[in-house]
Amino acid sequence: MFRCAWCMKKIGDNEPLHAINVKFNEWIDYSDKEGEIVQVYLNSRQTSVPMIVTTADSEAKKHGQDGLFAVCTKKCGEKMKNTLEKEMDMFKGYSDME
Ligand SMILES: [Zn+2]
Repeated sequence: MFRCAWCMKKIGDNEPLHAINVKFNEWIDYSDKEGEIVQVYLNSRQTSVPMIVTTADSEAKKHGQDGLFAVCTKKCGEKMKNTLEKEMDMFKGYSDME
């Protein structure tokens, strides 16, 4: 069960999952948390949101993605991306999950 990283709504297993892939800056190391959900503090929102850490052997990692934020709708995804724009000390980049 995931929670939307924007509005915290629960996302059911049978609901379509939208996600934003992110790439961390070098100073962020979650290598001991692979495959886990970690809480990431977003300064611009003054709160922590759940993020899934990509595992080293996954397809996503091969494409240079270090983590992902699950969101319930594309709308929440857009808002999340606007926030990530302000958190560029943490993230090098982001993209919609294909
Ligand atoms: Zn949402």
